[in-house]
Amino acid sequence: MDSKVRLNVDLHCHSTVSDGVLSPAEVARRAAGNGVNIWSLTDHDEVGGQAEARQVAESLGMTYIPGIEISVTWAEHTLHIVGLGIDPDNEEMNAGLDRIRTDRVSRAHEMSGKLETFGIKDAFQGALRYADNPNLLSRTHFARYIVEAGYCKTMQEVFDKYLADGKPGYVAGDWASLEEALGWIKSAGGIAVIAHPGRYKYSRSEFITLFKTFKLMGGRGIEVVTGSHTVDQYHQYAHVARQYGFLASCGSDFHSPQESPMDLGKLPPLPSGLQPVWEAIL
Ligand code: AMP
Ligand code: MN
Ligand code: MN
Ligand code: MN
Repeated sequence: MDSKVRLNVDLHCHSTVSDGVLSPAEVARRAAGNGVNIWSLTDHDEVGGQAEARQVAESLGMTYIPGIEISVTWAEHTLHIVGLGIDPDNEEMNAGLDRIRTDRVSRAHEMSGKLETFGIKDAFQGALRYADNPNLLSRTHFARYIVEAGYCKTMQEVFDKYLADGKPGYVAGDWASLEEALGWIKSAGGIAVIAHPGRYKYSRSEFITLFKTFKLMGGRGIEVVTGSHTVDQYHQYAHVARQYGFLASCGSDFHSPQESPMDLGKLPPLPSGLQPVWEAIL
């Protein structure tokens, strides 16, 4: 490739294997169609789409990096850790992910019960109709059902009224600890990356503790440019990356052509002076 041509890298997105609406092959085709050169599919807590993603990506000339987005509980809130360059067949990681997925089913029943008290009927069965993978029921599937059934106008309204952390339909997941998630990623030979740090409601001192703890436990990367960040946050987290010596990642967090604010391959370049995470993997 001409070194003057910027690489188009997208290392965070979802398929029907978790809470996206396109199959792994369709996501791969959309990424390639939008000019992505280096791509990773990072479904929540599930690697079932990795073989298809790699096969289609490589057939379309993209460089593929196997990925995962692991749900973690840290300081009483959910934190997402992306693992890049993992071996999808690693047994230790898969045993851990299996435990998280099992808990998702009972959590979904509990969420459905809470939603019932607000007059939202049959939410478990409703959400299940939107989930291609019944073992990976997420709040996104509930939100799609609640909008389609006419209880709310938009998915944002569903989260604001019922499903966001602290709202009355929210049920915290029984996720991995940070130590477990980093252990699984390490065992699978991957690099751990803090996903969309700008989305968490941690205090300033909690963020500092998180970055220090993550680094001490072997975490190496942080998402700087993501569909979840504002332009100001690109610069804020670029500063964090330089300060802590983190590798910088970028990814759209694409879920759906209708829902996602950022399409695959449409991200601006990383701010200057950062070490791109993909250079440590490829
Ligand atoms: P869960 O893993 O079941 O807790 O669901 C988390 C998923 O819900 C995230 O990965 C997003 O896809 C989606 N989500 C969370 N907050 C919002 C929001 N405010 N608007 C739309 N989707 C959201
Ligand atoms: Mn999601
Ligand atoms: Mn996430
Ligand atoms: Mn995501």
